[in-house]
Amino acid sequence: MRLSQFFISTLKEAPNEAELPSHKLMLRAGYIKRLSSGLYTWMPLGLRVLRKVEAVVREEMNKSGGIELLMPAVQPAELWEETGRWAVFGPQMLKIKDRHDNLFCFGPTHEEVITDIARREVKSYRQLPLNFYQIQTKFRDEVRPRFGVMRAREFMMKDSYSFHANYESLEQTYRVMYATYSRIFTRLGLQFRAVAADTGAIGGDGSHEFHVLADSGEDGLAFCPTSDYAANVELAEAIAPQEPRAAATQELQKVITPGQKTIEEVASFFSVSAQQVLKAIAVMDAENQFALLLLRGDHQLNEIKASKVLGGEFRFASDEDIHRHVGCRSGYIGPIKATVRVLADRSAAAMSDFICGANEDGFHYAGANFGRDVHLDEANVHDLRNVVAGDASPDGMGHLELCRGIEVGHIFQLRTKYSEALSATFLDENGKSQVMEMGCYGIGVSRIVGAAIEQNFDERGITLPAGMAPFQLAICPIGYKKNEGVRAAADQLYADLSAAGIEVLLDDRDERPGVMFADMELIGIPHRITLGDRGLKEGKVEYQGRRDSEKQEIVLTDIVAFTQ
Ligand code: ATP
Ligand code: MG
Ligand code: MG
Ligand code: MG
Repeated sequence: MRLSQFFISTLKEAPNEAELPSHKLMLRAGYIKRLSSGLYTWMPLGLRVLRKVEAVVREEMNKSGGIELLMPAVQPAELWEETGRWAVFGPQMLKIKDRHDNLFCFGPTHEEVITDIARREVKSYRQLPLNFYQIQTKFRDEVRPRFGVMRAREFMMKDSYSFHANYESLEQTYRVMYATYSRIFTRLGLQFRAVAADTGAIGGDGSHEFHVLADSGEDGLAFCPTSDYAANVELAEAIAPQEPRAAATQELQKVITPGQKTIEEVASFFSVSAQQVLKAIAVMDAENQFALLLLRGDHQLNEIKASKVLGGEFRFASDEDIHRHVGCRSGYIGPIKATVRVLADRSAAAMSDFICGANEDGFHYAGANFGRDVHLDEANVHDLRNVVAGDASPDGMGHLELCRGIEVGHIFQLRTKYSEALSATFLDENGKSQVMEMGCYGIGVSRIVGAAIEQNFDERGITLPAGMAPFQLAICPIGYKKNEGVRAAADQLYADLSAAGIEVLLDDRDERPGVMFADMELIGIPHRITLGDRGLKEGKVEYQGRRDSEKQEIVLTDIVAFTQ
């Protein structure tokens, strides 16, 4: 590319709004331009970087059996009503109306849409497993958009969704995706770590996050260097510390009867045992307090019972509610803080009874979002909230170290949360109808660009590895317009290197060397060749790698080999 035919726009100073080095540099290098809060234009230079990340993700997904499709960004409300998420997704979802007053959202994620495809298309176990993916624009109305593209409102995600005839098949694909993600982040040259994670609003049973390691990361990670143990510290907030079961039950009693009924009263009202009350569906009142837990059964009957007990407005707590409130992600709690604390302080054992026991007894388990596997996995049932570096690792294999990370990928075993709600079924070998098992796998494609720069910069600008840089090599001719010899040599070199498959940026603006160098360093071109009249007379040019402190003279004819 000739710079005269391209577009760059660099800035000496970053706008005030930028806090992190990556955000400042992306603005200064002209990778992105801010339109409005959390909304950015990918300028030509930044777009080249984004496309490179996309290409690596696409290639590795294709290699691992992913099948690409592209779903609409705008999704009808009805579909989200089928899973119950329209009401509970919360203010992160941008809701819009069409001219006929029909409600839609700008998709924050695509479980509903893809499961709708699967239920229409998949009839037989012979069609399974399937792993669909897309690279597509999402919108989430983040509470606090910041750090540029790292926490934007509109952003690019690779999201994939797998469908299976049984759990073993899901586990297998989950492992393949885990390996695929590790390959993607390795190829991109990122320092990263995979950790056990909480399943969040997406839900499901088991989950891992992939974090780019950076001090500015929003997530705290604990890991053991001498074993595989690694967890998001946030996970601890969803998992209570060990404590005696009796005490925990007492606490639970307080929770489900805030000024209303004791467990015994609730039990006698429903003519069941106190034990059964603990194995039930949570109901929230208008103030989002957990009022009581209802037995699974006829939904309408439960509603009638609940209205008798509560005597007022209430709604059934969704998986998302329960996760959010019981799971106690700080920041979301609002009016039910006290209740949440009590619940969050329950023992892991009591929590398991409440969540999983209900399931075993044939009740629908209310706390699906906790992730049964993560929850019951002894290695993960530890309170990491107050962990300090050097503490014994929960797996007993060493000591914990702490670091911070930027979440760039997240994989989930969804199991049947969506397939059940949307009746995505297939006929098994025996002609019996079965609900599909599902997994989902996200990568923050646009966030990766910011996260990568957070790991690759210096005082002069961006130092991305060659695989992600917008161009691999810059030619800086001194006196391009005035000196015919320099121009001819620069043009020839540009042609030769381009023919060798190198992405070259020829700075033909005829700027002073200082200006050219500063720009090429700021925008992060890994290799730079400077051509001057004097050197050319001896058949020599100057080479400087982006991370080198010194230039070196090299013979013109050696360049192609030198920069490979
Ligand atoms: P976070 O914890 O950072 O809010 P998330 O857990 O809500 O992310 P997921 O639902 O797991 O995000 O989505 C998959 C991936 O999409 C994330 O791992 C992240 O890389 C990316 N992502 C999520 N939210 C944003 C955002 N606001 N801007 C850019 N990328 C995002
Ligand atoms: Mg989020
Ligand atoms: Mg997260
Ligand atoms: Mg996540």
